[in-house]
Amino acid sequence: TAKEQGKNCLRMYEPQIEEGAMRRVRLQSLLRIDAERSGFSFVVQPKVDAQRQPQGAELLVRWSTRDFGVVSPAEFIPMAEQTGAIELLGRQALHSAARLAAELGRRGRPMPVAVNLSPRQLLNPSFERIALHACQRHGVLPSALELELTESALTESAVYPLLGRLRRHGFSLALDDFGTGYSSLSHLLKLPFQKVKIDRAFVAEALHNAKAGVVIRGTLEICRGLGLRTVAEGVETDEQFELLRSLGVDEFQGYLFDRPMPQDDWLAQLFTC
Ligand code: C2E
Ligand code: MG
Ligand code: MG
Ligand code: MG
Repeated sequence: TAKEQGKNCLRMYEPQIEEGAMRRVRLQSLLRIDAERSGFSFVVQPKVDAQRQPQGAELLVRWSTRDFGVVSPAEFIPMAEQTGAIELLGRQALHSAARLAAELGRRGRPMPVAVNLSPRQLLNPSFERIALHACQRHGVLPSALELELTESALTESAVYPLLGRLRRHGFSLALDDFGTGYSSLSHLLKLPFQKVKIDRAFVAEALHNAKAGVVIRGTLEICRGLGLRTVAEGVETDEQFELLRSLGVDEFQGYLFDRPMPQDDWLAQLFTC
């Protein structure tokens, strides 16, 4: 009967739910262990200008576990936010970014290195000190680092004064994934951003969806008026690049140019040609 089938279905799902919960618990504990022993690595994805010349790079965390293989940031960053492991991970990211920026300076090609920040990191009263310390430790000015934050970091107005102080120290501030989150144009008016990164979702739709095109054009117009630089993320095809370039986007990032790669590979690419 249908009732019996229903029961069977229910039973079939149970092990999966349990497996998912087990995975979470295991990953959370591995995450804490690896956060404490600096068990993450950081790859970079370059940003290029309209002539495809490198303008800097964004640092992206990678995590490989013995039991689960490579785990995607989309899965473990939210976990790290919940458990607090993001504090240690974030500190490692800042140091890695400052170290890379210092290396670029030493080799005579200073370029900003961008690092992603989670909302929870900004709520830590020590964040300002941690970020400045990373710069001092590696001998770079805060202006060598670009802090990428998403709109989810701006829901608490308590972080607004912090953003002002970070800016006054010289850190550059970029609004990441623009257009997908809790978009509020007042963020662009009130907060000291220098850059807006247009989310990959709009880039992917730009060619085929007239409405996405309208949103991109409008965003670019607003950014131009406010003196903000624009970055298009997730550029995958020549057609997308041509369109965005013709619309006046300043910087581009995506698989069309480079996939995220080990920092040494990027340095080799920069300094051998
Ligand atoms: P995000 O900051 O928006 O980074 C861009 C993501 O898009 C990266 O995924 C990148 O690998 C991917 N991507 C770049 N170009 C293309 C493209 O052309 N096509 C497609 N389909 N994807 C592209 P990833 O590395 O998996 O990171 C995902 C998210 O995890 C990041 O989104 C960021 O929010 C977060 N994240 C990564 N590293 C860190 C970190 O060190 N700290 C914090 N707090 N968050 C991080
Ligand atoms: Mg980012
Ligand atoms: Mg992004
Ligand atoms: Mg994105």
